[in-house]
Amino acid sequence: MNVSMVSEHASPLAALGGVDAGGQNVHVAALSAALASRGVQVTVHTRRDDPELPRYVRHGAGVRIDHVPAGPACYVPKDELLPYMDGFAAELHRQWQCRRPDIVHAHFWMSGLAALRAARPLGVPVVLTMHALGVVKRRHQGRKDTSPPARIPLERRLVADVDQLVATCTDEVFELIRMGAPRRRISVVPCGVDLSLFTVEGRQSPTNDPTSPTNGSASPTNGPELTTNGPAERVRLLSVGRLVERKGVGNVISSLPLLPRAELVVAGGPAPAGIDHDAEVGRLRRLATELGVADRVRFLGRVDHGDLPALYRGADIVTCVPWYEPFGIVPLEAMACGVPVVASAVGGLVDTVVDGLTGLHVPPRSPERIAEALAELIDDPGWRLELGAQGARRARSLFSWDRVAALTLAGYERLAARGPARLGAPDLPAGV
Ligand code: UDP
Repeated sequence: MNVSMVSEHASPLAALGGVDAGGQNVHVAALSAALASRGVQVTVHTRRDDPELPRYVRHGAGVRIDHVPAGPACYVPKDELLPYMDGFAAELHRQWQCRRPDIVHAHFWMSGLAALRAARPLGVPVVLTMHALGVVKRRHQGRKDTSPPARIPLERRLVADVDQLVATCTDEVFELIRMGAPRRRISVVPCGVDLSLFTVEGRQSPTNDPTSPTNGSASPTNGPELTTNGPAERVRLLSVGRLVERKGVGNVISSLPLLPRAELVVAGGPAPAGIDHDAEVGRLRRLATELGVADRVRFLGRVDHGDLPALYRGADIVTCVPWYEPFGIVPLEAMACGVPVVASAVGGLVDTVVDGLTGLHVPPRSPERIAEALAELIDDPGWRLELGAQGARRARSLFSWDRVAALTLAGYERLAARGPARLGAPDLPAGV
């Protein structure tokens, strides 16, 4: 089978942790690799955002990255990419006329637009994973939502029109149905976690190594080395992810005055050298200072993906308390490393973290409830170990990328067996 992945802003080759590079990049890279190891030929089409990038790059056996020229060859925030999607679609159409894929699998709404425009006139079936929904973002971010105004109406048309929708969690199914997606075209396939990288056994970032730097900056070869600033019995909380307000790191900081034994390590955001100039780091540092906990919060900046397992294993508890979360790969990575997770009960975290079994659920935006849950775990190291061990078992049995690829492939095969997809122009307004 020959599959074209479309991921307009999220390249498998991007450095993770920046504002627009996170779970989708990991998802597209890992799913493509896992499909390739099942014999599928995969091309990932992503926007060329650097003039140095060659047009085609091999990315492991069976996966090829195509850097599609559309818009300026530099970073453009994803919320400003819509005007370039017509050009992106035209380029895809030109290629697919010569080498027709069996399935097109688009990731994120703008990729969906480009994919549908390019594939429908050729009768190629289009699968769409939304990764995030405009209506949900608007609900939670209100006027801070920088998505283009056309996003929500265009997403409604897309979900009604594509041949198959892949929801990554059950919560998303309800959202999609409310948006008008036909239930029979929705399947649920979760994201996965790299179980060869994220393991229980292995090196840990030391908790109290007097030889390591105290600022926690990431070293490229050995990963971040950390040392506690205070007493040895301190409990380390870890937050990993893009540093955007809705990820809830501020809520964890607000819980710290109630948790005198806890220190918080934050991975994600700009490269370590840029931390002091980052607006979100500045906001969070001011909050920590106001609350008198600044000496217990450390920002590492972006940490290489390969260095994260040691960081997870060196943590006692991973906090993952976003206001909303389409899926959330971070809790799975923590679970795979045997670390309990305190997670807000939203989106994909309702499916991945099992309350009382692999971690604890808390309501979003609730520092008091976060503090309560963390206090229970801080006071009970034996329970932490139990939850961690159950988490590792759950991650292994349900969330390997191989299982995710098998489920995805079964969906592609069902779609291909239905015969040629609808032909013609998609039900989208012209010129978006
Ligand atoms: N990540 C990373 N380094 C960082 C911060 C994040 O490698 O400094 C990775 C993290 O390990 C995870 C992904 O970025 O695989 C974030 O995915 P998630 O689904 O949790 O959040 P999203 O970014 O999609 O909102």
